[in-house]
Amino acid sequence: MTKRIAIVGAGISGLATAHYLRRGLSAAALGADLVILESDRVPGGTMRTVREDGFFIEWGPNGFLANKPHTLDLVRELGMEARLQRSSDSARRRYVFVRGRLRRMPETPFSFLASDLLTLPGRLRVLAEPFAPPPPAGKDESVAEFASRRLGAEAMEKLIEPMTAGVFAGDPDKLSLGSCFPRIRELESRYGGLIKAMLSLRWERRMGRASAVGPDGRPKEMSAGPGGALTSFDNGVAVLIEALAGKLSSGLRLNAVVESIARRDGRWVLSVQDRDRRAEESADAVVLACPAHAASRIVGRLDPALADELGLIPYVPVAVAALGYDAASLRRPLDGFGFLVPRTEGRRILGALWDSSVFPGRAPQGRALVRVMVGGARQPALARQREENILALAREELALTMGLRAEPVLAKVFAHERAIPQYPVGHAEALGRIDGLVRAHQGLHLNSNAYLGIGLNDCVLRSRLAAERVLRDLAGPAAMLQ
Ligand SMILES: Cc1cc2nc3c(=O)[nH]c(=O)nc-3n(C[C@H](O)[C@H](O)[C@H](O)COP(=O)(O)OP(=O)(O)OC[C@H]3O[C@@H](n4cnc5c(N)ncnc54)[C@H](O)[C@@H]3O)c2cc1C
Repeated sequence: MTKRIAIVGAGISGLATAHYLRRGLSAAALGADLVILESDRVPGGTMRTVREDGFFIEWGPNGFLANKPHTLDLVRELGMEARLQRSSDSARRRYVFVRGRLRRMPETPFSFLASDLLTLPGRLRVLAEPFAPPPPAGKDESVAEFASRRLGAEAMEKLIEPMTAGVFAGDPDKLSLGSCFPRIRELESRYGGLIKAMLSLRWERRMGRASAVGPDGRPKEMSAGPGGALTSFDNGVAVLIEALAGKLSSGLRLNAVVESIARRDGRWVLSVQDRDRRAEESADAVVLACPAHAASRIVGRLDPALADELGLIPYVPVAVAALGYDAASLRRPLDGFGFLVPRTEGRRILGALWDSSVFPGRAPQGRALVRVMVGGARQPALARQREENILALAREELALTMGLRAEPVLAKVFAHERAIPQYPVGHAEALGRIDGLVRAHQGLHLNSNAYLGIGLNDCVLRSRLAAERVLRDLAGPAAMLQ
């Protein structure tokens, strides 16, 4: 009988898993049916672009970083390089709202010393980073503990806290450094500190040392935090989703909510609410590529302990307020990526992205597009307000932070109730328990941003690895991917 694989969820994780499964199946000359069940009426999950009045407005992500190869490799496999769009050079300029005004984030060591973003004692404390004490043995340090230990309290509050809010919409006191920013922990343990790591990596790169190249011959990731050029597509991130979904044709079923799974006669049976009828789907392998809270509900009856563990992975809400303006009405040029707001400033937004400056073409000629991030772990209630209140708040905060008082020509809110999973201290241990429980269910796999990385690159990498596991399971070592 032809094997059947069911994927639950058509966000980037589900769609990329389907792509790698198809590739692996054809490489191994294996026949298997593939079905993706997606509860929404469109694929993409949080990766969606709304096209309206000449604006290209991102629901969630506005791109991926080119310092990791995973998404770029996928784009190349799909033959879509011509559609890639690199962020403009000016997008390297980033701002932080500190002591009541926007200040430029320094890009080089010299500009850091000259910058007034941190006070002089704060800057000197950062320079003392090479003499910071080593990490406490065996402890899963929080992002805040790590940053305060290595860089000092001021750099933690003015730089690291807003960066954590910018990436995870998260609270650095709660999030685990090792789970959220594993590369930073790796650099500390390998080089003994961040400044030493920066200098050594630069030296290795200049000398063309083998250690700057990974085992696959590709250049290793050189930056510690979110770095590399932000990259998207000519018509927004949805271009990638459309390409992946287009390859699946009848294998992608929309408006199909998977409610539960059970084991019957050696196969998986999925209970699916499909528009107005309930149906059953059977499969030999199931990949739950939906958020952890949805996976928890789906496995609730099959394995309550696993459901409990999955249900404990926290998520935070984020509302995205998208505001379009006549460029002539802006008081200051949108000359960069946008800005972040540290929690110590007591403002009501996490920051704002100047999307039309990052990717020209996101707004029609003579117009500009700004997206304001509201809520997160810092102020979850603000993201749960009515749309008109979120818009009013966003406009008030733009007036206060960047003097933008103009009347918008476009205003939209995208509310994500459970926007971004959080990896708190202890996340790695929880993953160990989850892994142990999942292994007891032959043919059941988990793959989404809830576990090992929220960036699009991480989702694509994890999807490739998940597809490899499924194929190994189904057909043994002969089905290994190239
Ligand atoms: C506001 C915001 C900005 C972001 N910015 C960036 C950025 O600039 N760069 C970056 O790299 N990352 C960014 N991210 C993170 C990134 O977008 C996500 O980590 C990634 O898109 C998650 O993909 P996923 O497929 O794992 O999950 P999702 O996108 O959540 O997809 C899961 C899918 O499962 C479906 N589903 C749920 N339950 C069921 C069910 N019972 N049955 C069937 N289907 C179900 C959902 O409808 C959904 O389509 C951002 C996220 C947000 C929210």
